[in-house]
Amino acid sequence: MQNFLNLCKSAIGEEYVLLDEDQQAPYLQDWRQRARGNALAVLRPAETEQVAQLVKLCTTFKIPIVAQGGNTGLVLGSIPDQSGTAVILSLQRLNKIRQIDIANSTLTVDAGCLLQQIQVAVDEVDMLFPLSLASEGSCTIGGNLSTNAGGTAVLRYGNARELCLGLEVVTANGEIWNGLRGLRKDNTGYDLRDLFIGAEGTLGIITGAVLKLFPKPRNFATALISIDSILHAVDLLSLAKQLCHANLTSFELINHLSLELVHKHFPQYQRVFAKASPFYVLLELSGFGTEEQNTQQIEDLISTAMEADLIVDAAIANSISQANNCWALRESISSAQAKEGKNIKHDISLPISAIADFVKDTNIRIENAFPGSRMVTFGHLGDGNLHFNVSPPTQSEHENFLAHQAEINRIVHDKTHQYGGSISAEHGIGALKKQELTRYKSPVELQLMRAIKSAFDPDNIMNPGKIL
Ligand code: FAD
Repeated sequence: MQNFLNLCKSAIGEEYVLLDEDQQAPYLQDWRQRARGNALAVLRPAETEQVAQLVKLCTTFKIPIVAQGGNTGLVLGSIPDQSGTAVILSLQRLNKIRQIDIANSTLTVDAGCLLQQIQVAVDEVDMLFPLSLASEGSCTIGGNLSTNAGGTAVLRYGNARELCLGLEVVTANGEIWNGLRGLRKDNTGYDLRDLFIGAEGTLGIITGAVLKLFPKPRNFATALISIDSILHAVDLLSLAKQLCHANLTSFELINHLSLELVHKHFPQYQRVFAKASPFYVLLELSGFGTEEQNTQQIEDLISTAMEADLIVDAAIANSISQANNCWALRESISSAQAKEGKNIKHDISLPISAIADFVKDTNIRIENAFPGSRMVTFGHLGDGNLHFNVSPPTQSEHENFLAHQAEINRIVHDKTHQYGGSISAEHGIGALKKQELTRYKSPVELQLMRAIKSAFDPDNIMNPGKIL
């Protein structure tokens, strides 16, 4: 093993092979502090060629590799197991913006660029890269692509897969595949890019990407709307699509308890409505017309929805600070829930038409089995994506409640499956949902996935134990 580590040091420099426990610590701990792995070493290459050299060494010595970007993943995909036999290959030093091609509306980047770094670089040339997540200051584009991340603008622009035109990947035997093509059309056989996207580091290491850029909208209109049922929220979504077309950018659902937890734990954010409502919708339009046209469009939507009795009340943000306050309320839900205590989380997606029935049916099942459970339901309703989280009846009961995690997961995931949904909408499978995957994917699908894995990574060194 010493020989392997010495060869790694010669490849990337001794100071970039981290062996010391303290130096390794941040790479070993999962974001939500649920698990900690062990590693033989943390390797920090700075270039694609160095990644390729390290992978070749790992292949020769049969050392498993866990690729890591910002380590903000939520399914225990970016840390190794506790055996201490794997290396973590951190991409953080591959952080160069390689090229901006304005005429082609593309940006070529290293995989370790932070999402926020990309957003800023693109903003400087007056364009938009629309991927946006609450973790954008810490997560990397390589991680975003490897998890096919979603976020708040999927409704209009699609998820990470739809925002990527080309990839550069180091394969499991250490070869570099240069697929950095900025083409909108390329029907030349199997789509390797789409296989690596969402593969969570189990098929190869993404080292570079060509991303799609968009014109930057000139103005935004934001509203928080109170609503009495999910059914009405779904009808409002259909109406918003009809009336606002492509300007509809975000459509987020927030249930009453989610908002109350934010007000309890983050009193600095202003209440928008004096009167509580069972649900709220945070809606955003972005457009290219005048500000007045955009405001008119949101006002027309709200008055039509009022006339149709779909909504109870609505507050249109009159300033950037009011719009920011609305977004802060939405984006603080996870942190507020964490401050309230441990809880059981589900990141699911459903056909939008099935969401109201799913929530009603599943809430009843959980409340019957675990009376007093508090349902924290929020998410990207416009994409059919719910964060369907369950908190214990009181703040002090979380330890006992977590003992029921498997039973609650079973209820939620079985119901999700029954309603035609997916047990992972945007966070991936990692190590956390591996068992669940085998329950809900058909044998044919699993067999095809295993065949892909063994074709790309015959020695099973790429993030073993994740997904499959
Ligand atoms: P990591 O956590 O380091 O890795 C994630 C997975 O990708 C691992 O399996 C890892 O092995 C693999 N990987 C990383 N880099 C590479 C690479 N270069 N090549 C191959 N494999 C690689 N996710 C959403 O989709 N939508 C959200 O709205 C959202 N909000 C979040 C909010 C918060 C506060 C937090 C903490 C997380 C949120 N996430 C969200 C989850 C997370 O931020 C995303 O999954 C993100 O895309 C992970 O990027 P990362 O660089 O941190 O990847």
